[in-house]
Amino acid sequence: MKTLWRYGLERFAPGGEEGRLAVLLYHRVLERPDPLRPDEPDLARFTWQMETLARLCNVLPLGEAVQRLRSGTLPPRAVAVTFDDGYADNLTVALPVLQRFGLPATVFVASGFLDGGIMWNDLVLEAFARARPGRVDLSPLGLGEVEVADVAVRRNTAQRVLRTLKYLPMTTRLEKARALAEHLGAELPGDLMLTTEQLRTLAQAGIEIGAHTAHHPILAVLEENAARTEIVEGREALEERLERPVTLFAYPNGRPGQDYTPAHVRMVREMDFQAAFTTHWAVNAKDSDPFQLARVHVWDRTPVRFTLRLAHAFRRGPEGVPKATGSDRS
Ligand SMILES: [Zn+2]
Repeated sequence: MKTLWRYGLERFAPGGEEGRLAVLLYHRVLERPDPLRPDEPDLARFTWQMETLARLCNVLPLGEAVQRLRSGTLPPRAVAVTFDDGYADNLTVALPVLQRFGLPATVFVASGFLDGGIMWNDLVLEAFARARPGRVDLSPLGLGEVEVADVAVRRNTAQRVLRTLKYLPMTTRLEKARALAEHLGAELPGDLMLTTEQLRTLAQAGIEIGAHTAHHPILAVLEENAARTEIVEGREALEERLERPVTLFAYPNGRPGQDYTPAHVRMVREMDFQAAFTTHWAVNAKDSDPFQLARVHVWDRTPVRFTLRLAHAFRRGPEGVPKATGSDRS
């Protein structure tokens, strides 16, 4: 069985000049399943996923993986593991699993939420998770009245609210999410995101820390200067806390053309980051633009499907990943 899977992966995921790099994208790893977050892996799912990677793939630290991708020296079946946003469970739940299998990983932290912050999308989810049952008026959001009762209603309504708010200006979005939480009478958690102390613990444990802006805006809807400030401030806040350079970046939300534009790619390159990552679903090749490297979000619930999905990603290759421009070609 092991040999067969390996053979399949090897065929589509060679190393060297033809090397392919799959960068896996996670956000949270939940202690236990959460019906409001059905797509987030819990400890059990994450454990078998990491066990599968350790058995079948060569998992590299992201910075090293990018270097070796570009110099044509990747091992076959090359994978890197990343987490976005900076959730505390990356330390409390994911790290022990990574350590158990000896796997490196990178956490992209939105610095503005360290030490007790909460992201607007979590505000909405937590508000509906904790709302008292009963009728709520969502007409200020154009969503009419909703009877908050069972978990399905909570989940569906939360998703509708998230879609409604997503592309509003950052401050409006947060204000509306806060107003909603208040309206729902929900007590909100203050420990979802990493503290500075936890961030340092992660870094000391060998987890690479990357930048992810300060407040996780959709860069494409910001003025250029505001976008630049978000990227710079996010990086500096991390460097100050860690007392080391931060050289990797992930675009918030990360969809090319929709969440970031060529202007932001230029900014990140000019700021001397080593590489930047999107959420475009693909694996990367030697000639992929190092400032728009794709990632693979794997949501499968069984080891077989997980492995097939990974093999499928490798087989599909760097589809839709922009190529490096002249100056970035190594
Ligand atoms: Zn993010």
